[in-house]
Amino acid sequence: MLRIFYKWMWYNYFMKIIDGKALAAKIQAKLKKEVAEMSVQPGLVAIMVGNDPASQIYVRGKERDADKIGIRSNIVRLPEDTTEEELLKVISRYNQDPLWHGIIVQLPLPAHINEENVLMKILPEKDVDGFHPLNMGLLWAGKAVMVPSTPAGIMAMFKDYKVTLKGKKAVVVGRSNIVGKPIAQLMMMENATVTIAHSQTQNLSDLTRQADILVVAIGSDRFIKADDVKPGAVVIDVGMNRGDGGKLHGDVDFENVKEVAGLITPVPGGVGPMTRTMLMKQTVEAAKRSLKNVE
Ligand code: NDP
Repeated sequence: MLRIFYKWMWYNYFMKIIDGKALAAKIQAKLKKEVAEMSVQPGLVAIMVGNDPASQIYVRGKERDADKIGIRSNIVRLPEDTTEEELLKVISRYNQDPLWHGIIVQLPLPAHINEENVLMKILPEKDVDGFHPLNMGLLWAGKAVMVPSTPAGIMAMFKDYKVTLKGKKAVVVGRSNIVGKPIAQLMMMENATVTIAHSQTQNLSDLTRQADILVVAIGSDRFIKADDVKPGAVVIDVGMNRGDGGKLHGDVDFENVKEVAGLITPVPGGVGPMTRTMLMKQTVEAAKRSLKNVE
């Protein structure tokens, strides 16, 4: 009797939850093997300006992941009053250095630095974040080389959990360049019919309730409720919102939505670990492409 109860618990709880942490670990182990067999060690440099505490944590996390996989990493910490020109020079140096295959600039940047100029400066072939306009354009042309890590991580989760997109109705809430727009395009490329919603969308719930696949990336603590979700839908929660007590919550009211959804990502332990892992994957791929260019 107890066994049946545990089995029932397992199906009703664990089966519905996408374990981003476990999948990230699996992909990292595979990358580690690949790197060990490569004739060149992939190199990733992260450039930070200022002392934003959240950025410090993110960058250290990336450094740890790189170490685990065998990617050489370097964090360049520049003071808050670094000028745009000085930052562009640093990027230029790493652009020219063949030892570094991936360059990322941790966002946000201080207000006196123009983010667009900085992202444009990174060589497209070293732009492992996929934020350069050329890489964004290639993605929209259906010829992606570098894809922003969060959408790439979501697609990897779909693949691992055998979520088919073909013919499905997908709704993306949020239209940022780093999450909303690229995940919409990637799902469209897999033949989903995609709608992008944003802060000016009218009757949002009517839209989200129709979604077979719902991706939420808005930055608003537990905004999507159980009533907003179609029973059985796949719900991907990108949001990372830290409440007063420091506890991390997503954009989806996980505790209640998991009762309705067919499959759902938790926060933490869902999209976050996959984002960092896909950055490592892009770095390894950039290093492999650089070898091909030399041959
Ligand atoms: P942005 O602030 O760049 O974009 C937010 C988007 O959400 C905008 O398009 C905005 O609309 C829309 N939006 C905001 N409020 C609402 C609302 N009430 N209803 C509908 N749409 C709304 O955010 P990001 O895309 O960069 O990030 C979103 C969230 O994801 C954040 O919590 C961020 O921390 C998290 N994140 C997590 C990552 C991870 O690895 N887990 C990686 C990247 C981000 P409009 O355009 O009209 O203003």
